[in-house]
Amino acid sequence: MIAAFGIRGRCARCDMTFELKPWQLNAIAIDEPFECVYCQSGLQLRGRKQQRQFRALDQWALVRPSMIILTCVTLLVALVAEWVGLLSVIEQLNLSLVTVLIHCLVLRFARHRQRMTLDLQAVSPLPIEQLARVACARLRQR
Ligand SMILES: [Zn+2]
Repeated sequence: MIAAFGIRGRCARCDMTFELKPWQLNAIAIDEPFECVYCQSGLQLRGRKQQRQFRALDQWALVRPSMIILTCVTLLVALVAEWVGLLSVIEQLNLSLVTVLIHCLVLRFARHRQRMTLDLQAVSPLPIEQLARVACARLRQR
């Protein structure tokens, strides 16, 4: 399941760009075609490079929770180090400040990497059983 937002898709047929909904991202993840919002043609993600980019989104989604844990642990360790006398108050404050700064920078970078526009190729009109599967996927999202 992909927890990323701000991923957009461009339809190859009508050249419209739109924000991908979670069920559309799921369809891409399981390699199922889905309808373009504008021209109703079947769309699918093609190309190895784009597919690799898409798969990497899962890893980028993990950056945020792991960074929160890492930052909290570092701040706690700095605080304890100050209490037991390993660090002075100034050193502790500096370390905390740098940690928070790194935290913000990493999250910014991760968000930047998650924001992408996928070029979606039009596939032949969807066969009826695929339409049914798309409808099921859409229903499951609710
Ligand atoms: Zn279209």
